[in-house]
Amino acid sequence: MIDTHAHIDFPDFDGLRSQAMERFFKARGEAIIDVGCDMKSSERAVILAKENENIFSAVGIHPHDAGSLTEENLRRLEELLLSYKTVAMGEIGLDFFKEPFCDPKVQEDAFRRQLELAELHQKPIIIHCREAYTEVLEILKGYKTSGWNGVLHCFTASPEVAQEFLDLGFYIGFTGVITYYKCGSNDEFFMCDALKAMPLDKILVETDAPYLSPVPHRGEINEPLFVRYVIEKIAEIRGMDADELEKITSENAKRLFGI
Ligand SMILES: [Zn+2]
Repeated sequence: MIDTHAHIDFPDFDGLRSQAMERFFKARGEAIIDVGCDMKSSERAVILAKENENIFSAVGIHPHDAGSLTEENLRRLEELLLSYKTVAMGEIGLDFFKEPFCDPKVQEDAFRRQLELAELHQKPIIIHCREAYTEVLEILKGYKTSGWNGVLHCFTASPEVAQEFLDLGFYIGFTGVITYYKCGSNDEFFMCDALKAMPLDKILVETDAPYLSPVPHRGEINEPLFVRYVIEKIAEIRGMDADELEKITSENAKRLFGI
C-alpha cells in the first residue's frame, strides 16, 4: 500500500515519527509521499525523503499560505522541486471554505505560479480544493483541457465534479473521510456515487495524516498505516476484495508519481 498524501514532517509527529513509519513499512507499506504546504514543511519533506528510502516528497504552498509565495520563495521551491526524490508539486489550489481565508486573488496568483512551475518541469500536481471547484477547473482549463498529470486530493465532491477532473486527466484521492458515512443511508452523501462510477485505475488512497483519522481511529492522530482503512472502505463500496484494491491503488500511485 502507498499513502499518497501525508504530513509526517509536521511537529505533531515529533517523538512518534519513526515508530509510525516502522508500523507502516512492516505492514506491507511500500511508500509514503510527504506533502509540503508551506516553505518550512516543503524543506522538511525533502529532507525526510533524502533520509528514508521509501519516502518521497512533494513541495508547494497551500492556499492558506498563498501570501508567502514571494519571488525568493518561488525560486527556492523550484530548487526543492528538482530534488531527486520530489515527485510532485503540492499541495496547491484554492480554498474558500472558511472566512477569513487568504485573499482569493492572492490564492489564484500563487496557484498559477506553481502550476506553471510544475508544467515547466513536467511534474505532477497535488490539488487542494475546498469550496472552489468552479474556479479551480476554470484555471486548469485555461492552460489545457486534457492531459493533466495530477491528483485532486481529499475528494469529497459530487460525481459531476469528479467527472470534470477525470476528463482533464486527473486521479482522485480518497482519505478517511470516506469512512465517516454509511453509503446509501444518506442520500446527500454523493461522494459514494462518485466513487462507484469512477474508473479503478484513477483511484488513489491517502491519509492526510495527522488529520482526518478514519473510523475506528477518529479523533486520534492519523498515521500512514491507517490508509488500510480507506482501502477497505473503498473495496466495500465497490464490492471487491481489499487486497486487490490495495494492489490497484499502489499501481496507480506508481504510475502517476513515477515511483
Ligand atoms: Zn494535506
